Amino acid sequence: MIENLVFVLVLAAAIVVFYKSISRISRMIKSGKSIEIKDHPKERWKLMGKVAIGQSKMVARPLSAIFHIFVYVGFLVVNIEMIEILIDGVAGTHRVLSFTGTIYPVLISVFELFALSVILACAVFLSRRNIIRLKRFWNKEMTLWPRSDANIILITEILLMSAILIMNASDSILQDRNHGHYAAVGSFLVSGGIKPLLSGMSEGSLIFLERFTWWFHIVGVLIFLNYIPFSKHLHVFLAFPNVFYSKLGPKAKMAAISSITNEIRLMLNPSAEVPLQTEGTEIGQFGAKDVPDYTWKNLMDAFTCTECGRCTSSCPANITGKALSPRKIMMDVRDRAEELDSFYRKNPKDQSDGKSLLDKITTEEIWACTTCNACVQECPVNIDPVAVILELRRYLFLEKSAAPGELNIMFTNIENNGAPWQFSPEDRLKWAHDAGLEVPLMADLFSQGKKPEYLFWVGSSGAFDDRYKKVSVQFVKILNALKIDYAVLGPEETDTADSARRSGNEMLYQMQTLQIIELLKSYEVKKILTCCPHDFNTFKNEYPDFGGNFEVVHHSQFLSKLINEGKINLNSSQFKGKNITYHDPCYLGRGNGEYEAPRHIIRELKDSTFTEMKRNREFSLCCGAGGGQMFKEAEKGNKEVFIERIEDAIETKADIVATACPFCMVMMTDGIKYKNMEETMKNYDIAELVAIAMGL
Ligand code: SF4
Ligand code: SF4
Repeated sequence: MIENLVFVLVLAAAIVVFYKSISRISRMIKSGKSIEIKDHPKERWKLMGKVAIGQSKMVARPLSAIFHIFVYVGFLVVNIEMIEILIDGVAGTHRVLSFTGTIYPVLISVFELFALSVILACAVFLSRRNIIRLKRFWNKEMTLWPRSDANIILITEILLMSAILIMNASDSILQDRNHGHYAAVGSFLVSGGIKPLLSGMSEGSLIFLERFTWWFHIVGVLIFLNYIPFSKHLHVFLAFPNVFYSKLGPKAKMAAISSITNEIRLMLNPSAEVPLQTEGTEIGQFGAKDVPDYTWKNLMDAFTCTECGRCTSSCPANITGKALSPRKIMMDVRDRAEELDSFYRKNPKDQSDGKSLLDKITTEEIWACTTCNACVQECPVNIDPVAVILELRRYLFLEKSAAPGELNIMFTNIENNGAPWQFSPEDRLKWAHDAGLEVPLMADLFSQGKKPEYLFWVGSSGAFDDRYKKVSVQFVKILNALKIDYAVLGPEETDTADSARRSGNEMLYQMQTLQIIELLKSYEVKKILTCCPHDFNTFKNEYPDFGGNFEVVHHSQFLSKLINEGKINLNSSQFKGKNITYHDPCYLGRGNGEYEAPRHIIRELKDSTFTEMKRNREFSLCCGAGGGQMFKEAEKGNKEVFIERIEDAIETKADIVATACPFCMVMMTDGIKYKNMEETMKNYDIAELVAIAMGL
């Protein structure tokens, strides 16, 4: 009776404390800005089933996936036994479910097998962290509490599972000796194996051991439950809602700041009446400098982080020795939320503690990101560290004018010349004239009452970058040879300012965007063709937020389709015997899910071989140029990202590195030069490969 009373009191205390801790977490998450995420509920349930319940993103690292599934399923299944323990504890029964007869020992044996698998998996995880010392568990943010936290969790799980097995073994021996109410529970599979170790014990000792492990297990579980809200283990609860509410659609899409849209719209057209509805939040301050500036979803991300480090181990900046670690970014947001919450609890009347997230995250970390989305791809619980970084960039530029100097030069050039470099808009067609090419101009055709099927968006690199101008030439030769109905904007084209947006300059990006949309609408453009994955992403995913809806095709998709339709014949043997590898541009691959079109083109090149780099498709390594990096010096590290990437290409022993992006081309070409391999390794764009194979 006293035992039951103690049990009920312990249980009630544990529930009250747990409720308070969960309320604290909920309060901290709700301290973020409010946003509504109610779209596509079916898709969201499916995603949760696949990623959170099905653990689909763990599969990429099979060994760790298997052991994680052991722990995940094992812990869930073993805790079903908790139902019996709870009933026994409250009602004073012993093994209340044993009325199920012969089913009972089978059931308990299954639980025991799972308990054993949890012990095994935790032992492996402990050794990976403490003996093998996997690099991702030893980054600088993984000292002190984060490292102890992981070890505490693993050791606790081993102890809890061991308690179950010892409890069952001692119970079985007592049963074998036909001792009172310990009788008739059957024999169990795993604990049967440890019975010989305990068989010499007296009945009194066995009863004590059985009771002790029973109490140890249940009190341990309750303590563990109350430890979870203070640990990275919180993901066992938050992973499900976090995945449910995670970003659907293309990873590379950025949300707009709608207050800027309205401002620019009024600037461009003061008589406009209805504000454009854009995705994003209405905010008084641009970007984020502290936790309350983020949405509740960003904060839920931070509290869901398991600190597994998969993001950091795939981050090109971190791999090459820079200070940025996406895991640390999420941990900093969480730590700052906790710091702020405890400050407001102690000082309810104060407005601010005088600190901000920028005291934890340095500008060196913020500007090192290439926005490659490798971290988002890797995260097993769909956390988005890039969103956090980009809001900090927005704050730094829009509120503090504190972007790196080289980025300011890029912004000024776009403002003045409509290109990130100092070139005149009048020279936007010089690449074609220099090559003696006839390229139809949209303005000319439109004035003749013609509406070409495609607008070929040349892009600033296609118009001005010495190497990429050659790609524009080759692509136009293909269009002309196939008699495609297209036109270019020529001097009317301007930069999409995608790099400016990713560098925090939302104002410039939206200014360019609204003007471009106006221009395209004036020509009644329906389809856009572009070689640049950054412009492709901008037109396809981001323009709809501003009222620009176009069919957007990347040149690799366009060429692949024409090959499929038999309109392009790649039968010439120009690439005979050549080994070709392909570098996935982040904004085409990971950002927009297009992996196959460029590969299809390469495979169609007669008598050549195609070799994948070890990091490919969704796990491809960035070239290092995205997110504005193309226009600035890289942050301090031990290597340039493009060198790390060209080494992947060199490993394939390729003669040709194929690319499908102007930025990637610059970086891969630099990499080849850096390695002094210009004689043995060439870099071609997909369009050039097709043009050469067509004999153009
Ligand atoms: S987007 Fe790429 S560079 Fe930026 S934090 Fe994520 S992995 Fe690192
Ligand atoms: S953000 Fe995701 S991948 Fe990175 S440490 Fe946290 S849980 Fe792991």
